[in-house]
Amino acid sequence: MLKYRIIPVTPFDQNCSLIWCDETLKAAVVDPGGDLDRVYAAVQAEGVTLDKILLTHAHIDHAGATADLSEEHSLPIIGPHQGDDFWIQGLPEQGKMFGFKAARVFEPTHWLQDGESVQVGNVTLSVLHCPGHTPGHVVFFDPVSKLAIVGDVLFNGSIGRTDFPGGDHATLISSIKDKLFSLGDDVEFIPGHGPMSTFGYEKKTNPFVRGQWG
Ligand SMILES: [Zn+2]
Ligand SMILES: [Zn+2]
Repeated sequence: MLKYRIIPVTPFDQNCSLIWCDETLKAAVVDPGGDLDRVYAAVQAEGVTLDKILLTHAHIDHAGATADLSEEHSLPIIGPHQGDDFWIQGLPEQGKMFGFKAARVFEPTHWLQDGESVQVGNVTLSVLHCPGHTPGHVVFFDPVSKLAIVGDVLFNGSIGRTDFPGGDHATLISSIKDKLFSLGDDVEFIPGHGPMSTFGYEKKTNPFVRGQWG
């Protein structure tokens, strides 16, 4: 069974997630944007063993501490989709742009594709390519616990920005409608920022997507 703990990191309060399999206690860090001391404290508190890093996309608040975490614990970097390579190459520039401390470029161990799966202990996560906020954005979904980790695709009451290079509003809406909402109304999700929600609740109430699907 998948367990999780949300760890807000960076000046943008990005929802970094520590996720793990409760049978093997193998864990993954999803979106290590920064503040690794908080991540390590959560790892220690839960008594889990880090196994890999998963990335939804390569904005600095989600990926800024990836190189450090990967090196300090010899962890493979899984994701995002290759469409975000230019954001990874631009991490040092993103640091200056957003007033973050310098972030280093890294090379993902494995680029993700739509339809792939990722193993965390005995838990199998499905990978959905959901471009629009960034071209290489992916979402991780556990069909057993009906939990999705959606990064900056969808928020409780809002959707991801599309005014950055490579962003596209129509593509984002299609990712939400065709990929996420088809997973089921009862699916809970951890967004990249802010409180959790369900796809059903967003379908009904989110002003950016509500009403388009009845
Ligand atoms: Zn983002
Ligand atoms: Zn973000």
